[in-house]
Amino acid sequence: MLDTYRHKGMRKKLVDSIRRKGIKDERVLEALNTIPRHLFLDSSFLEYAYEDKPFPIGSGQTISQPYTVAFQSELLQVGPGMKVLEIGTGSGYQACVLAEIGARVFSVERQKKLYLKTKEFLKKMGYHIRLFYGDGGKGVPAFAPYDRILITAAAPEIPETLVEQLKTGGLLVAPLGKGGVQTMVRMKKENDGQLSMEEFGAFRFVPMLQNKAND
Ligand code: SAH
Repeated sequence: MLDTYRHKGMRKKLVDSIRRKGIKDERVLEALNTIPRHLFLDSSFLEYAYEDKPFPIGSGQTISQPYTVAFQSELLQVGPGMKVLEIGTGSGYQACVLAEIGARVFSVERQKKLYLKTKEFLKKMGYHIRLFYGDGGKGVPAFAPYDRILITAAAPEIPETLVEQLKTGGLLVAPLGKGGVQTMVRMKKENDGQLSMEEFGAFRFVPMLQNKAND
């Protein structure tokens, strides 16, 4: 799998543009600068891998726009050694950003084909990310509690099970809403177990679904 000087140059330009759009977390920017995003896309999209755009990854899903990945990662305030649960593995790109920052990443995908493809791919890339197949709304209780939970599909509401799997003082970031547009929210589990919430503007994600796909 090839990462050339040309790819590195394109990646640096992308990271500069994301910095200009307001992302400040150096660990996030460094992760984006390190990960060869073009390898996460089908080869026919090679030319577009370093544009700040979402792209189809098969099974009707998309790899999120790099800016959105950076935005969610920054909101999550991730540090090395933290246990992070991601809902919606997709291409695995976001999970790699978190792993690159030094987090211990657990990620759930509900589409079997995508889960299998990404599992194989991340192994080849050398990332140690624990992937699970199933409904992310149920979380991964075996490894709970988590310091951080990141939902990367549009959530009509925050499943109570996920809140239970979040540490006290932990943060959960999600695009919250039922329609085509969601509000990015960050929730903190306070000492009394209640959630406090901050809002961060409008985003568009594919919906988080409960039933299994036809695969
Ligand atoms: N984080 C991904 C992009 C996510 S796209 C990346 O970096 O590429 C949203 C993903 O969420 C899709 O792959 C979709 O299949 C998955 N998804 C939707 N509902 C889900 C659920 N209930 N549990 C787990 N994954 C889900």
